Amino acid sequence: MSIPSKAKLKEIADKLASILRIQDWNIKIHIINGFEMNKNYGDCTYMGMSDKNVRLNTANIYLNSDNCNEEWYETLVHELIHVQTCSVEHCANSYFQENHTYFYDLLENMVEKQAQVFCKLYPVSNFDILEGDK
Ligand SMILES: [Zn+2]
Repeated sequence: MSIPSKAKLKEIADKLASILRIQDWNIKIHIINGFEMNKNYGDCTYMGMSDKNVRLNTANIYLNSDNCNEEWYETLVHELIHVQTCSVEHCANSYFQENHTYFYDLLENMVEKQAQVFCKLYPVSNFDILEGDK
């Protein structure tokens, strides 16, 4: 299944946010291409990225339409878990300073494992009904 329409994507993201207990966040999902991903984050191969504001509880999630067609769901879950864990990230950022790349490697690894587990427990097929009324 390729990336659904923007409206369906919003419904799916809202449901996932409520499961992940981040429903009080204002989360916007954007579909961008590889060129824009490279322009904003310096790498056209990133499948997804997110910008989070812990003070305002707002997040923008970017899915790369050139690189995550098949894996959009896991990518979305991955970025939502980043939203869920961003207060830890924010806090650790100020503690680890020069060792922060080591921390980010650990965090990235943990987020990806959680996303994989989440997708096994709550696969995209849960949204088949939504997909049907496209
Ligand atoms: Zn990540």
